[in-house]
Amino acid sequence: MKKCDFCNLSTFEKRIYYQSKFFYWILDRSPIRPGHTLVIPKRHLKSFEDLQTKEIKALVGEAKRWVPKILKTYKATGYNLVANISKAAGQSVPHLHFHIIPRTRAELGKLDKVRQIYYRSLPEHKRPRIIVHQVIQQVNKLKLK
Ligand SMILES: [Zn+2]
Repeated sequence: MKKCDFCNLSTFEKRIYYQSKFFYWILDRSPIRPGHTLVIPKRHLKSFEDLQTKEIKALVGEAKRWVPKILKTYKATGYNLVANISKAAGQSVPHLHFHIIPRTRAELGKLDKVRQIYYRSLPEHKRPRIIVHQVIQQVNKLKLK
């Protein structure tokens, strides 16, 4: 048996609702919301940038087909599209996967919980703030690399 859960089909086979040449579309086993979907590349990849262009094109095509179905099925009007890359970002299975989490406006009171993922539960007054000249500095830094 392979160590990686997402290389081991038997760990999620029953939760697959669609598979293509490159990806599995499965329901998360502990969904944040009903319809919480994981899109898992069939190849063991660590990170988003390891995807090949043909895989990214296929993924977008599949999303055009499946995201509207997910939203309709779960009566959602929006969704979160998230990939946690590495333990530092909260990745639990070390095999690239994307979360698609259907959302409704009725959840607005819980939106802050989504932000807590990104801000690591920092209270409002402790969240990092950057000002315009810092944004420009950071943009320039990124452009130089
Ligand atoms: Zn794997």
